[in-house]
Amino acid sequence: MTGQRGITLLGATGSIGASTIDLLQRNPERFRVEAVTAARNATALAGIARSLNARFAAVADPSCFAELKDALAGTGITPGAGTNALIEAAEYPADWVMAAITGSAGLKPTLAAVARGATIGLANKECLVCAGALFMRSAKEAGATVLPVDSEHNAIFQALAAGRHDDVKRIVLTASGGPFRTWPLALMQKATVEQALQHPNWSMGRKVTIDSATMMNKGLELIEAHHLFGLPGWQIDVLVHPQSIIHGLVEFRDGSVIAQMGPPDMRVPIANCLAWPERIDGAAAPLDLAKIATLTFEAPDLVRFPALRLARTVLEAANGSTTALNAANEVAVDAFLSGGLGFAGIAALVEETVAQADRRGLLREPGNADDALSVDHISRSLAGELLPQIAARVS
Ligand code: NAD
Ligand code: MG
Repeated sequence: MTGQRGITLLGATGSIGASTIDLLQRNPERFRVEAVTAARNATALAGIARSLNARFAAVADPSCFAELKDALAGTGITPGAGTNALIEAAEYPADWVMAAITGSAGLKPTLAAVARGATIGLANKECLVCAGALFMRSAKEAGATVLPVDSEHNAIFQALAAGRHDDVKRIVLTASGGPFRTWPLALMQKATVEQALQHPNWSMGRKVTIDSATMMNKGLELIEAHHLFGLPGWQIDVLVHPQSIIHGLVEFRDGSVIAQMGPPDMRVPIANCLAWPERIDGAAAPLDLAKIATLTFEAPDLVRFPALRLARTVLEAANGSTTALNAANEVAVDAFLSGGLGFAGIAALVEETVAQADRRGLLREPGNADDALSVDHISRSLAGELLPQIAARVS
């Protein structure tokens, strides 16, 4: 790598943020940090900004500004707060920006980094579900490079290098199946928050962990893959692979299947993106296949995991349905986590919101970020309205 790569971390206090920071701290000669952001944990953010020697640190919640300012006093690090400060962070001249804010809240800051032609390490899949066509078009126009951090998409990105795009027959995203992979439907419907947060293989933020339990995560990833790789839904398959060792596969038309493997540790795909097109030494403990011994595979069960079926039905709709699906899912997961909706209610609320939004003529394919956030906002309100009746019906 020629010179140091300048890095900005959007969502620095989260799980992806922590994995990225670990890699940055182990490779100080290769990276320097421009800006870091968080939702509202000012103390944690200030600690990160200090230890990484960042120039700018911003919290989304303006009421946390005073705490951040105090915690950064005397360091020379500029504090910021509010939505515009997140955009300002993305505009700092970092060559490489980690997009690891959860949900559609990450859209505008990430688009700000895209607009100045930065290289984006994209963890925030909700950006692409909310406004995928717009996002990829903006990246193309600005000359921004989008590198997939999500492990399955990173696997496919790496496997695609083995051949020509025109020779790809299909791509396959693997899924662990989450904590309820083998649970009967009746038990799943009564699953508690604690049970849903017990992911068998990955340690992640709460939202994506619940998405993994419903398999909406894989649904969001289908839509993400469609936009990232420019493939129609019928060329994107999902395969349940409980060990999470093979993360993605590309099948070429001659029958060759190229798979990427790695330990279930996000530092591997993050390292791939951070150093791309180079590599970093030992991002995680090496894979010991003799110890793992067995890799198994099964087809996903669309009856027990209706969220996956639902995501596939809207995948290519190009009418704002995926924007509504993402917004409704964010509302549903929040409601589940706070005890206001049962586990089975998550997919039911998403399905009902998308259907009603369509019926009421509220959907349109977003032409710009404000458009996307307006459909997102309307869909959230609708999901909020429908929540009591779904919570009462599905329990
Ligand atoms: P997390 O909840 O641990 O962290 C989220 C980060 O975003 C935190 O820094 C938080 O402060 C910030 N944030 C949350 N809401 C915000 C808001 N409204 N405004 C501004 N900042 C906000 O989540 P995570 O597990 O690190 O996941 C981050 C993203 O990466 C998600 O989109 C997730 O789907 C994706 N992802 C995560 C993993 C993983 O292993 N954790 C794997 C693949 C993809
Ligand atoms: Mg993933």
